[in-house]
Amino acid sequence: MQTKGSMDAEGKRSNTYIFRALYWVLGLILMVGMGGVWVILSSNRGHHGRNNTEVTRSGYDVVGAVRDGGAVQDGVTAQVGCEAESGYGGSAVGGASVKSQGGSAMRNGGAAQGEVDIYFLTGRNSKSSSGVGFTTVPVEFCSKAMELQPEVIEAFGKMRTAAAGAGIALTIISGRRNYEQQKVIWVNKWNKLQSRGIHGVDAVEHILRYSSMPGSSRHHWGTDIDINSLEPAYFTTAKGAKELAWLRANAHNYGFAEVYSPRTTGRSTGYQPEPWHWSYMPLASSYLTQYKQKIGYTLFGIPDSKNSDSVMVFSGSQFAKTVKIIENYVGGVNDPGTWKKP
Ligand SMILES: [Zn+2]
Repeated sequence: MQTKGSMDAEGKRSNTYIFRALYWVLGLILMVGMGGVWVILSSNRGHHGRNNTEVTRSGYDVVGAVRDGGAVQDGVTAQVGCEAESGYGGSAVGGASVKSQGGSAMRNGGAAQGEVDIYFLTGRNSKSSSGVGFTTVPVEFCSKAMELQPEVIEAFGKMRTAAAGAGIALTIISGRRNYEQQKVIWVNKWNKLQSRGIHGVDAVEHILRYSSMPGSSRHHWGTDIDINSLEPAYFTTAKGAKELAWLRANAHNYGFAEVYSPRTTGRSTGYQPEPWHWSYMPLASSYLTQYKQKIGYTLFGIPDSKNSDSVMVFSGSQFAKTVKIIENYVGGVNDPGTWKKP
């Protein structure tokens, strides 16, 4: 016969068994759950790793696109940014999905006064750890898909609004280009000149009238934009001349400068005048200083087993020093010094 006490004791024991069983079940659920999270995290890492490799290989360097907080993701690009245009060497933005690379060094979108490395300066951001972020330009600002630094987009937006108030429409027709994209432009031009019998340094100088050597373009930095037209003649039409006059009178208030100004105004070497090319100086002036300090002609040299990773080689790169790319072209800019941060 069971006493009340033993029944209670039995009851307590069976309760304890139930609790223990529950405890183990909960524990198991927790372990399985955590395992799942781990699997997801691992597969994400692998996923991004693969994409980064693909991006580097295919040359469409959008690795930097979303470093600053992940504003742009797969598919979103096409909706928020401008329509892709079959312009130079393929559409820059969209395509590959790269959310972040490395992580640690990439939190500030803009890295204004910060140091940047030789990879950033030469447009090879998949190798850079400078932490500069690029953002898709809003669709109403531009004529095709493109990226710029967020600070530049913001400044352009203010300038565009002010211009609109004066009856002037400003559209960005090119923004950031990476090294690989510039190389496509360069090699296309080079090959055409070869077939026309123009070779060597003659070919280089011909291309350099309006196009940069890969690794030497200000468009690598996400600070420089081309506005409304790439035709010099356009800016002599009534419409173009009015737009240019407005920019020359007002752009400095928004941080922009006409760096490839007419040769009579502040520069004697470098590209032909480019009235369409405007540079966001609060960032770009620092990058130019750093470019002159950090980039030498060995970077345009022949790769060896030690530093092939950092060397840039393409058709005609052997003439970089002959034509003084760094002094005459990268350095061949006019900084009127009147610009200010908007
Ligand atoms: Zn330009």
